Amino acid sequence: MNPSNSLEQKLLGVKEKISVSKTNSVVRNRIKSIDLKKPRTGLLKNKTFLIKDNIAIKDEYLTCASNILQNYKSPFNATVIERINDEGGVIVGQTNCDEFAMGSSSEFSIYGSVKNPFNLSLVAGGSSGGSAAAIAEGISDIALGSDTGGSVRQPAAFCGIYGLKPSYGRVSRYGLVAHASSFDTIGIMSKSIKDVYSTFCAISGKDIKDSTSYDADKPSIFNLEDSRLPKSIGIINDNILNQINVEIAEKYRLLVDYLKLKKVQIIEIDLPYFEHCIAAYYVLTMAEASSNLSRFDGVRYGNRANNENLSDLYIKTRSDGFSDEVKRRIMTGTYVLSSGYYDAYFSKALKVRRLIKNSYSDLFNKCENLLIPTTPELPFKLKNNLEDPLKMYLSDIFTVPINLAGIAALNIPAGFSSSNLPIGIQLVSNSFKEETLFSLAHILSEEEIFDTN
Ligand code: GLN
Repeated sequence: MNPSNSLEQKLLGVKEKISVSKTNSVVRNRIKSIDLKKPRTGLLKNKTFLIKDNIAIKDEYLTCASNILQNYKSPFNATVIERINDEGGVIVGQTNCDEFAMGSSSEFSIYGSVKNPFNLSLVAGGSSGGSAAAIAEGISDIALGSDTGGSVRQPAAFCGIYGLKPSYGRVSRYGLVAHASSFDTIGIMSKSIKDVYSTFCAISGKDIKDSTSYDADKPSIFNLEDSRLPKSIGIINDNILNQINVEIAEKYRLLVDYLKLKKVQIIEIDLPYFEHCIAAYYVLTMAEASSNLSRFDGVRYGNRANNENLSDLYIKTRSDGFSDEVKRRIMTGTYVLSSGYYDAYFSKALKVRRLIKNSYSDLFNKCENLLIPTTPELPFKLKNNLEDPLKMYLSDIFTVPINLAGIAALNIPAGFSSSNLPIGIQLVSNSFKEETLFSLAHILSEEEIFDTN
């Protein structure tokens, strides 16, 4: 079969799977606009990609699942899209998510909620829930999401797939709609650790269009077959493990036992400032979001509402354009930045962030990697947390510390609960040490530590 034929076959498969999907994961497919004749070579040759609807693809809608951007099309490609194209990848569609990537359940979306492919009455996680569900359903080889506080890893855990949050600065954010710029990263999801790895190699590296992208060399392409276990690994203690879902704790202990057996040095650690991470994260990200989202005003960006005068224009545009969660964050963010409260909240949270960062850095002098559950609970019921924002925020308790510290983490699928729901565990590394994550994940993928479904 010639290569363009086999790609054509593959795309027909994608189309078919999207049409029978019941999870509401894909909001748009762009199969018609794919040029089958274009020669494709490179690391990602003929691999199919789905892209979260907050990453810019030239001439495609870019809505961030928000009313305010419903009619907006991007005039340019994000750097990650350019790099996927350059390496022969094929972008087949765009995925559902929480509005402006704010949420943990992919229920805050103009397209309606994403559903968990393992049980349609449960959430797929968020905010990149569409990307995670679509991968679990086998619609595409790879998907991109964004991870500001866990939005790649938590849905990956809820859908039983790999989800990488690279170090801050590793992957260019150019073309990712900003949520909280000092936290935002573009992450990679797949069922195959090899596909996560080759995508990581393709999209990472310095980009002059993003001044926060780091001038590290592109990761050298090491052979996954040369993987090795870390010398030492930090694990959390029973105080914390006893407070989370027992079946997640059980899988966690299983993995620790395996590593012990393999003579990896196990070091019990305290997660730095654990009880302060959620507060610091939400103060800082809401502050950044309130500033980033000011451009959606009906003048610079966004659907302009009918109006009587200028102030009416701003008020109506933003009142109609954003839903409750986004408004809550803009208002809280504006509040913590306002004079009189700036020192009490924003500036204090910045100091807490610095302490967290420093402590994680110290931890990596003692251990090469850390092992942390990805979520404290199994996927929850749709609508369950909608009325209680704090409950929703607490589901990020194990993921936000990684973004506060700017380091890297990978969700690995760790088997299933007795109710047949996926469980995930995070492997964590210091900044720019992602190869240790791939190494460990690759070895674990070859061993049958967890039951497979
Ligand atoms: N759930 C977190 C939040 O609502 C994380 C979001 C994200 O990573 N984009 O902020």
